[in-house]
Amino acid sequence: MEKRDYYDVLGVTKNASKEDIKKAYRKQALKYHPDKNPGDKKAEENFKEAAEAYEVLSNDEKRSRYDRFGHAGMGGAAGGFTGGGMTVEDIFSSFGDIFGDAFGGFGGFTSGRRSRRVNKGTNLRVKVRLSLKEVANGTEKKIRVNKYVSCDTCGGSGAADSNSISTCQTCHGTGHVTRITNTLLGQMQTSSICPTCGGEGKTITKKCHVCYGEGIVKKDEIIKIKIPAGVAKGMQMTISGKGNAARRGGINGDLLVLIEEEKHPELIREGNDLIYNLFISIPDATLGTHVEIPTVENNVKIKIEPGTQPGKILRLKGKGLPEVNAYGRGDLLVNVNVWIPKSMTREESKIIEKFRESDSFTPRPDKSDKGFFERMRGYFD
Ligand SMILES: [Zn+2]
Ligand SMILES: [Zn+2]
Repeated sequence: MEKRDYYDVLGVTKNASKEDIKKAYRKQALKYHPDKNPGDKKAEENFKEAAEAYEVLSNDEKRSRYDRFGHAGMGGAAGGFTGGGMTVEDIFSSFGDIFGDAFGGFGGFTSGRRSRRVNKGTNLRVKVRLSLKEVANGTEKKIRVNKYVSCDTCGGSGAADSNSISTCQTCHGTGHVTRITNTLLGQMQTSSICPTCGGEGKTITKKCHVCYGEGIVKKDEIIKIKIPAGVAKGMQMTISGKGNAARRGGINGDLLVLIEEEKHPELIREGNDLIYNLFISIPDATLGTHVEIPTVENNVKIKIEPGTQPGKILRLKGKGLPEVNAYGRGDLLVNVNVWIPKSMTREESKIIEKFRESDSFTPRPDKSDKGFFERMRGYFD
């Protein structure tokens, strides 16, 4: 995406003073603050965009480079997190103090946001292969996964015993270190994740001998997965909290389940409809008969009317697959083919030869058959 001009982002002119820029940024940050716009991705983007613009325009050196070279001048050499990729977390830790007073009125993000860092386990991916019958009815699968689980010996703490956990001496348990820097605006306080404890607020003096201080161990686990009816190949389900455990008692990752389908020997899936390609003999097509058709559950008998033409499609309502998480069911479409023998005995040939001259065997197609065009259309897309 094309980056917007930083002055436009903050709504200030090119010769705006530092104070104007600061005010403009506070206004933007207030408007798009995540606490005021929960779950609003667009607001979050605007919030980040404003922070990025402010990060550059509030810094004399960066601002003058931006004035001369535009965004092109803000590459890696610009330092800081310019160029995107900063999280809301980063913004709070870098600029929190600047607009802190502006937000004091609604809940104060400073205390809430600057909590100790919580580790999150990684997501696990598994594939589940389903038969058509399982898709039709929904199913519960038990799968074995080798994943990180909390270490039983230390209860996930990573410490040999409770006396081996101590408050981090660098950050005194806050997980953050603050630094005072002198800028043209005066003193500015910035906060960053504690380098000693990695933001956890505590350090371990004697590590658990089973997990070596990690708080997690690899283990096979059987996970039950409930799969709703109607799912299809390529769909992915997210089962939250069933992924890998996090280091030292954090939040579990998620389990991502990718759906795969086994090929049915006779039925072809097309969305929620099923297709069965039926072959009947010339006598059955001309005289009519009853034939057995496979469905997902069992075989059903259907009637073939005398004079049934090849290419006729019979629709068995509701014999398809259910919609996933909704009402309604697809149909089973039976495509009728008439089998023409590829070789015959001399006697059979003689019998067929008699039909050549017969009046009833002379083609009399129904010119208004719209089904023909419907069927042909399939070849063109
Ligand atoms: Zn620390
Ligand atoms: Zn352990």
